[in-house]
Amino acid sequence: AEQRVKWVIGNWKMHGRLADNATLLQAVAEGAGAVAEAVRMGVCVPTPYLAQVQAQLAGTAIAWGVQDISTHAHGAYTGEVAAEMAAEFGATLAIVGHSERRAYHAESSELVAAKARRALEAGLTPIVCVGETLAEREAGTTEAVVGAQLDAVLELLSVGEAARMVVAYEPVWAIGTGRSATAEQAQEVHAFLRARLAKKDASLAGVALLYGGSVKPENALALFGQADIDGGLIGGASLKSQDFLAICAAA
Ligand code: PEP
Repeated sequence: AEQRVKWVIGNWKMHGRLADNATLLQAVAEGAGAVAEAVRMGVCVPTPYLAQVQAQLAGTAIAWGVQDISTHAHGAYTGEVAAEMAAEFGATLAIVGHSERRAYHAESSELVAAKARRALEAGLTPIVCVGETLAEREAGTTEAVVGAQLDAVLELLSVGEAARMVVAYEPVWAIGTGRSATAEQAQEVHAFLRARLAKKDASLAGVALLYGGSVKPENALALFGQADIDGGLIGGASLKSQDFLAICAAA
């Protein structure tokens, strides 16, 4: 929508095996040529596959990245992965604050903000996820919830840093459920988030705002046609090359 840069980013979650990845990456790389140049394509993959993805996607128009990073650059943090490590494998993207991490790993908005800042320091573009649960939506607190999640990031980052992030609105009730937000529901929250960004600083009105939650080829056009929706973060459908490419074509 509008003239801002469009993004379509796949989130593989904890899916994939070397052989399956090879097939998927080859098909997506081959199909990328047909996607408009103005659309930035990317895939965020399980960290052990970064080298494979780098080998297959280097030289294509498709960017790649990770699904989480540590708040630290190095040190005694067993099991964590630093943004710098991902960057060494050519990663340029890092999802932070995905609702599955907030829910299953108790990540607070302050922690998510620290991860966004680390990503930026390492030269990665953070894709900051925000979104309300069904109970929060039904209680009428959607704007309060996503507003607070965004504010935590805006409080920690400088305006210059925040201008380099991407924000993904992902209603928790729409993720992996097959039940997407309607285009109107998504647009309403996107407009709210864009106004909040602009209120912090006029330059932040141009931050890319992606929608995520059961995006499919069948609903992508309507969602991406909304004034404040600049593309999508795609879970399940990013594991099927034809679906992912069709969604990219809709952006
Ligand atoms: C996601 O997990 O970021 C997501 C949007 O998943 P899905 O497309 O499967 O709902």
